[in-house]
This record gives sequence, structure tokens and C-alpha cells, in this order.
Amino acid sequence: MQTLVKISKRFWYQTPVSETDRPILGVVIGDKRSLMIDAGNSEEHAKYFLRELEKNNILQPSIVVLTHWHWDHTFGLSGLDMISIASSRTKKELEKQVPFEWNDAALDERVKAGVEIEFCANAIKKEYGRERNITITLPEITFETKMEIDLGGVTCQLQHVGGDHAQDSVIVYVKEEKILFLGDAIYANLYSSKRNHTVKRTLQLLDNIDQFDAEIYILSHWKPVSQEEYQQEANLLRRVARLTERFAGKNEEIVKAYQAIVKRDLNEDELEVIEYFINGYEVER
Ligand SMILES: [Zn+2]
Repeated sequence: MQTLVKISKRFWYQTPVSETDRPILGVVIGDKRSLMIDAGNSEEHAKYFLRELEKNNILQPSIVVLTHWHWDHTFGLSGLDMISIASSRTKKELEKQVPFEWNDAALDERVKAGVEIEFCANAIKKEYGRERNITITLPEITFETKMEIDLGGVTCQLQHVGGDHAQDSVIVYVKEEKILFLGDAIYANLYSSKRNHTVKRTLQLLDNIDQFDAEIYILSHWKPVSQEEYQQEANLLRRVARLTERFAGKNEEIVKAYQAIVKRDLNEDELEVIEYFINGYEVER
């Protein structure tokens, strides 16, 4: 069950669905215009969000921003009658997908060729069922590094931050509300033979994110988290990145050094992050 949740007078979001990989969709409500964050994984997803806004008497968005090119954040765009904004890198990635077909055979073939990953192919099949009317729509306005949008009483700062998950990743800072919509930026790179994080990109990404003075951070496939929770996550990534470099990607030594820092056994999350960094270390060599 997806629900629409109010965080502040000017920001609402719709909860994600893991089975079909629907990410969080957000809306920033200005006095003059509302802005939607991400277009959803299908027209149905996007339209459901708009209907929920209507039910709650929220000004319908006239602008949509895409956080990155992945299908679950962009395929709903064809169902939205509004101005779309994205990084020029996102547009480039979407352009590559325009000629693709989306039936099972075409999807399976792309998975085999390493263009698509099984995780996404399965979620696409679940979201769309048999009728797969997918039209890749390109964003109308693009920018390189940053853009600011004044919605009337509230400002959105869009900033390209990149990272391993998607090198086109953009984050949206809702300045007056101190809300930072991170999208999938801090997640691992899934489009690889092994899921991975790399040292340099991770450290750079986390530094980029730290430039924003935020109280709430939104992670698209999870939930909004407090600054403290975000910092815990960022500390884990930073520590493991540094240890990966120091111990040249050697698992045992990284685990031992991390245990010495936290003075306990490591939990599953921590071990997974270490595994992803080791994968990244191997990929980079
Ligand atoms: Zn993604």
C-alpha cells in the first residue's frame, strides 16, 4: 500500500513499493507552482501520485525533475503533462533507450548482453504485466551542474552529484525546508557484473552532499531519515572507503580494522558495504 505523507507544509511524498521497485515520489509546494520529484516507474505510478495530491487539495505540479535515468524514476514521464527538467547526462542515457523494445524476449536478451540487469527486468515485468506500453520521453530542459527554481515562497536547488549508483545523479535541496532529496545517489552501482562502490567516487559524492545544510534526507527506495541517521550511513561508507584504500581491497584486513574501530562484530549491512567496496576495488583495477 502506497501512502501520501506530509513532512512539512511545503513537502509531501508517496511511499515506495519494493516488489515493483517504485521509488518515493516527492512534491514541493510553492505559492505559484508545485514541483514533482521523479516521474515514477510507469504512467500508472505517476498518475496515481497526482490523484493522491488532488485528493489532498495539493496544487498540481507543473514541473517535474528527474534524479537520474533509471527506469523506475523516469518511465512515468510519458504520462505527465508538465515541463520536465534533468541533467544533460540523464537525457543522454535516456536517448540510448528510445529504440529499445520491452517485451520479455527483448528484455531477456539485454540482460544476457549485460545492457540490462535481471533485478530491473523482473521489476519491469511485474510493474507492467503483459501490456507493456513503454514510451521513453526525453526531458525538455537540461542543465550541467546546477539550477535553482523559485516556486514562490520556496526554492529548489538542483545539483549534479554523480556517484557510483548513476553518474548522472542529481539531488534536490528544498532550501527553506532543509530537506535534501537524495534519490538513489548513495546506493551502490547495480549495473555491473558485481554490485559495487568505488573509493574516489564515494568520497567525492559524500563531500558534495555535505555542502547542503539539511535536517531531513530522502532515500528513494527507503524513507526520509534524520540528519543523524544519514550521517551514520555516510560514516559507514566513508570508513569503508578509506579502509578499502588502506588495505588494497583485502577483505580480512578491512573487516578486522573496522571491528577495531567499532569494538564489536560487524552486522550484515556493514559486511555488505565492505563486499561492495571490494568489488569496486577489483572493478577499478
Ligand atoms: Zn537508481
